[in-house]
Amino acid sequence: MYIEELKPGVLRVSASADWPKPYVGVCGSMHGNEPCGAAAMQRIASSFKEGALEPAKGTVFLIHANPEASSQGRRHSRGGDDLNRLWDFEFTETLRREAWGYEHHRVLELKEVLGELDLFLDLHSARTPTPPFGISNGEASIDDIAKEVGISFLVQSWYGLADKVITGFLKLAGVPALSVECGSHDDPEIADTAHRIAMNFLRVTGVIDDGNETNGTEVRTVHVVETITKPSDEFGFGAPWTGFQELEPGTLVGRDRVTEIRVSRPCYAVLPNEDVEIGEDVIYLAVDT
Ligand SMILES: [Zn+2]
Repeated sequence: MYIEELKPGVLRVSASADWPKPYVGVCGSMHGNEPCGAAAMQRIASSFKEGALEPAKGTVFLIHANPEASSQGRRHSRGGDDLNRLWDFEFTETLRREAWGYEHHRVLELKEVLGELDLFLDLHSARTPTPPFGISNGEASIDDIAKEVGISFLVQSWYGLADKVITGFLKLAGVPALSVECGSHDDPEIADTAHRIAMNFLRVTGVIDDGNETNGTEVRTVHVVETITKPSDEFGFGAPWTGFQELEPGTLVGRDRVTEIRVSRPCYAVLPNEDVEIGEDVIYLAVDT
């Protein structure tokens, strides 16, 4: 077995010294306040190093995306920017180089590795409780793979952020990619959930064969149809929503002194988070496909 640190935080593992294709990447902690992903990468790397796990074909890439933000325990590093909003690389045209923070340099470094991948998984956690759900970029076989990794819901279309997030960049490159929200940051099981999902992904893509079956679950597919941004500081939810809570028509999503937002058809609450700045997203609404 061959293991090599290709770049800081990027480990590649293969049974063969010539690093054969397919390249399958698993990425964690794009956001530094979401330690479950990096913990899963570390645990899998240790299993390889101890010989408890062996690569079966191709090359596995284990990526700790944002070690700087992880060390600070923040979503992005001080003076930097959200690493999962830079994948359109617009800043290279609009922001002078002296103003770049850690993440601007890091996204260019990761682009070199990630652009070469054949399949990709990205692990996140959320502020409020949510069942594990995936967001697919719709390329090739990714939806079928997603159904085997152990998520409850699969978001098949989410256009709002499409070109700024890693899965959007990989879509342009034609690389099947899946982002998974594993649960809430402070769920005591979150590290195990992230590890289980990452292992299932490696199994179903065939790059490891540890004799275990993937534990695919019943997965409901949904579309995100509405993005609600925080209209004012007074805005509050009608109830403390959790992820994929079902909202009946007429349900008060939230209100401030002049606005009330109610749903007009059955839908799910996705990533509810009141604690954002005015103009940022407080909740997304999804419907069954
Ligand atoms: Zn995240």
